[in-house]
Amino acid sequence: MSTERIAVPELPVVVKYGLFDMQVCVPADWTDDQVVLFSELTNPCGTTNGWQIRKAGDELLGGDPERQPCNDRAGCVHIMLDA
Ligand SMILES: [Zn+2]
Repeated sequence: MSTERIAVPELPVVVKYGLFDMQVCVPADWTDDQVVLFSELTNPCGTTNGWQIRKAGDELLGGDPERQPCNDRAGCVHIMLDA
């Protein structure tokens, strides 16, 4: 029997979903492209440009970082997207 620990990658999840914005919780090493793709596959945006990551400095972030470390899952970050 192996005692080796197998690292199980955290699964991406949608934290909040609205008509015009969505918050996802994804592994911190995900690229922006992966985040957008996951968002589109989970909840197709329906607008021409699709989901856009809410970038640092956007006033809607209210001073929060673009990638907010998750309180519940180590190694994951929360990212807001706008339709
Ligand atoms: Zn989270």
